[in-house]
Amino acid sequence: MGQLARWSATMEAVTSLDAGPVQNTGVSAAMFARALEVTPGGVNSPVRAFRAVGGSPRFMARASGPYLYDVDGNEYVDLVCSWGPMILGHAHPAVVEAVQQAVTGGTSYGTPSVPEVELAAEIVARTPVDQVRLVSSGTEATMSAIRLARGFTGRDLVVKFAGCYHGHVDSLLAAAGSGVATFALPGTPGVPPGSTADTIVLPYNNSAAVMEAFASHGAQIACVITEAAAGNMGAVAPVDGFNATLSRLCREHGALFISDEVMTGFRVGRSGYWGLDGAVEGWSPDLMTFGKVMGGGFPAAAFGGRRDVMARLSPVGPVYQAGTLSGNPIATTAGLTTLRLATDEIYATLDRVAATVQALVSEALSAAGVPHLVQAAGNLFSVFFVDPAEVPAVRSFDDASRQQLHRFRAFFHAMLEAGVYLPPSAFEAWFVSASHDDRVIDVIASALPKAAAAAAAARPEGTG
Ligand SMILES: *Cc1c(COP(=O)(O)O)cnc(C)c1O
Repeated sequence: MGQLARWSATMEAVTSLDAGPVQNTGVSAAMFARALEVTPGGVNSPVRAFRAVGGSPRFMARASGPYLYDVDGNEYVDLVCSWGPMILGHAHPAVVEAVQQAVTGGTSYGTPSVPEVELAAEIVARTPVDQVRLVSSGTEATMSAIRLARGFTGRDLVVKFAGCYHGHVDSLLAAAGSGVATFALPGTPGVPPGSTADTIVLPYNNSAAVMEAFASHGAQIACVITEAAAGNMGAVAPVDGFNATLSRLCREHGALFISDEVMTGFRVGRSGYWGLDGAVEGWSPDLMTFGKVMGGGFPAAAFGGRRDVMARLSPVGPVYQAGTLSGNPIATTAGLTTLRLATDEIYATLDRVAATVQALVSEALSAAGVPHLVQAAGNLFSVFFVDPAEVPAVRSFDDASRQQLHRFRAFFHAMLEAGVYLPPSAFEAWFVSASHDDRVIDVIASALPKAAAAAAAARPEGTG
């Protein structure tokens, strides 16, 4: 739904394509023109197209530590970090070396290999899962986890939350139906109503709605899937006890609790978001999904969980799941090297950098009189351009949707011009890496006053 939110913003901003506030002349613009010829929208994933902010995307030529360098030679402080994976910074020497060595040994075997076992063991050691199956994308991980939950329980219904994104799985590209516990509607053309007829979409952080859904449909619910902390509508932490309640309701009704840690896993701490709530409160999800950080910048993802549930998976059990490049030796080497380097000290650095950036942004926006909320979920954070007088805290997708998007657009482009690359959508978390140092903080601090002033001066589209 985060992706869907971005997509809706996209459709609204469609007229601003190639005519946004910043005209990108130069090699990026020429490449984009070429890309538009051969790829829909010129991009291979929609949010990269800048449609929510206007203007045209920058083509990156290389990246190093906390910096991206575009094909025109501009340097940017990167606050996207490939949407999460690059926690050590770009082109970390140890990861590059491990990958170079691995590549010389061949790039894919279609047989079991050692690094995939080591990576699985590392994930099992850091999280409550007993076993994992490796796949190539977060989408595959959530799709497979849901199939497994349905196969294990013999039930069909899936409960998800508005604003939580779990990849572009048909049954999860769903919009809420007419009532709280009613069945969902397709969230995009191309998804048949049949694919979402077994999905129930509820408001995030609303335990009462979950109880109502279980009261009406408890015996048919296969699983509840949620982001461990929502990051795909901006950073929206679960309210105290929300995840624990989901876990308990699932257990009471014989459903499985799937915690999607594709974004939060191995980023907000060594055990992911579960390390901040379940580990402390004494509960564990039945299934978990991982991606992003665990691939170290390569396509690798995983789903895992209770041994008895995982035992239903082929070739041991009857639930089919497979993948030609699953557990790829290069991707798993990159992921394993990254995880082994992601020590407590690294997480402490991420927390510190994230806190510093949040404070700077909030200070600059307040000084310019821009209404906003800075919210965090562990070291994930985002800036919501809402009016705190109307929305004192963003707890759900409805709250996040009350942003003054014109302010974000102006802010985004001013930061970009000053060499800071933010997520090109107001519905995204910002990501830092352990390589973000004092120089980076200086660049951000000097960019902020002008960007905050631009946000303050911005007017909604269509008003002079
Ligand atoms: C990114 C993301 C996914 C999808 O992962 P892909 O690798 O893009 O398919 C799923 N769930 C969450 C929470 C994510 O952030």
